Amino acid sequence: MKKEKKAVFLDRDGTLIKDAHYLNHPNQIQIYKGVIPALKKIKKAGWRIIIGTNQSAIGRGILSVVMLQKIHKILIGILKKNGVQIDEIFFCPHHPKENCSCRKPNLGMLLKGAKKYQLDLKKCIVVGDNKCDILWGKNGGTKTILVLTGKGRKTLADSKVKPDHISSTLKTAAKWILEQ
Ligand SMILES: [Zn+2]
Repeated sequence: MKKEKKAVFLDRDGTLIKDAHYLNHPNQIQIYKGVIPALKKIKKAGWRIIIGTNQSAIGRGILSVVMLQKIHKILIGILKKNGVQIDEIFFCPHHPKENCSCRKPNLGMLLKGAKKYQLDLKKCIVVGDNKCDILWGKNGGTKTILVLTGKGRKTLADSKVKPDHISSTLKTAAKWILEQ
């Protein structure tokens, strides 16, 4: 088990924290119950933890990059204080109409992570609540887990979405990850 080859790519809103619909202030951060112990387990098992989030609120002019970075600094700080070291947070700031290469399900953020941390994407896992997360993982050749938090139940109802695993929360997803 080579530590540096595998990572769990996590969606942010609806997976780690409550989806506040264009969250634009740190006081809106609400980490789901069970997320911290789950992340600890994943990390302890030798996985890197990388967050990848679409933040079109920036492209829509609702959120500034400076504020997003402040939100992420605070999120990282809360997790760190609770014993969880996040390796990276990538974000796509673009409006969907910009047709960028980094907005999930496009591969930009996965490829960036793979390059920076020398990951084998086949050994990586994407966890998210949204259709775009599952498609992101599929496009990148990772395994995929759909969590039923956030928009998860709606995504589950979409028969076109076929994740490798379905978990009610990140807590139960961690169990499956540790079995891989
Ligand atoms: Zn983008």
